[in-house]
Amino acid sequence: MNKALDGFAHTVLGPISPENIGMASTHEHILIDFLCMFQEPQELSQRNLAFQKITIQNLNWVRYNMWNNHDNLQLTEEDTAIEEINLFKKAGGSTMVDATTIGINRNPEALVRISAATGINIIMGAGYYVDSVHPPEVETKTVSELTIQITNEILEGVSPMKIKAGIIGEIGCSWPLTKNERKILQASAQAQNKTGAPILIHPGRNEKAPLEILNILENEGASPDQIIMSHMDRTFEKIESVLQFAQKGSYLEYDLFGWETSYYPLSPTYIPTDAKRLEFMKELIDNGFSEKLVIGQDIFSKHRLTKYGGQGYSHIIKNIIPRMKDEGFTDKTIQLIFIDNPKRILTFSPI
Ligand SMILES: [Zn+2]
Repeated sequence: MNKALDGFAHTVLGPISPENIGMASTHEHILIDFLCMFQEPQELSQRNLAFQKITIQNLNWVRYNMWNNHDNLQLTEEDTAIEEINLFKKAGGSTMVDATTIGINRNPEALVRISAATGINIIMGAGYYVDSVHPPEVETKTVSELTIQITNEILEGVSPMKIKAGIIGEIGCSWPLTKNERKILQASAQAQNKTGAPILIHPGRNEKAPLEILNILENEGASPDQIIMSHMDRTFEKIESVLQFAQKGSYLEYDLFGWETSYYPLSPTYIPTDAKRLEFMKELIDNGFSEKLVIGQDIFSKHRLTKYGGQGYSHIIKNIIPRMKDEGFTDKTIQLIFIDNPKRILTFSPI
């Protein structure tokens, strides 16, 4: 079944040698329709703001109320995506994982056009986002049927152009995990067994979620060293819990770089700043986990693009690398986080 995928990373334009992955962000959304998260404000005074385009006048409101602005939740303009990704390229970036899966408007053919226009390697995700956006068939499909579906997205490709996914995920998990999300996790693990593809997980918002998910995946034969646990920064508040989870051996992704707000509506009590993210990463490095760290910005809304006053996809390279140096990260560690670790995890393993 496997058509010798191992030893390569698989982009929307085809397989590439791991040597060509270069500087990578392992979690972004180049295109996404995140209207599933839209909440129309109840207050009359805010209602009209909900349907305004983003302007300098309403930007502060949008930043604070990101789920209440319709326009903000749609990254659908290819030209904008190309301009923004070119900034990532100019900063030295060369590979990006587009973590947009089924349910949030994955657009394979547009990713092909964007990759061709920018020269950036784009790795597309297979599988499903969280339960609330599952298409109806997930309810009736068995684990083996879902396994076939995910495996086919990797081996055969999707859309009439047969564009192949190069990673399973981000696989969406709620807290508590739903029955159908559990089926998809089991299918993701089995699809990894059949393809050697890496898995990218979006855990539920509870510090028990990552371990529960990893156990489900491992029970189905997935290997922790082929799994990326996303959103470490918003999931674990205490360094002790991070260090305990790190023992399990998955990749640890700090991927909300650029969020500098004291208020994040989905985690109202806790959202770290970049300074805190770096502090946690440093602690992980000092405890021997430098080969497990990967990084990203998880951009999913307009207000985080440079065009709309945000930091854009190049923030981790332009702003965070110098800060890492200031914080005592060695050049070798920075190379691990940005190049060597992505190269290892994004390369398909033998099955
Ligand atoms: Zn996510």
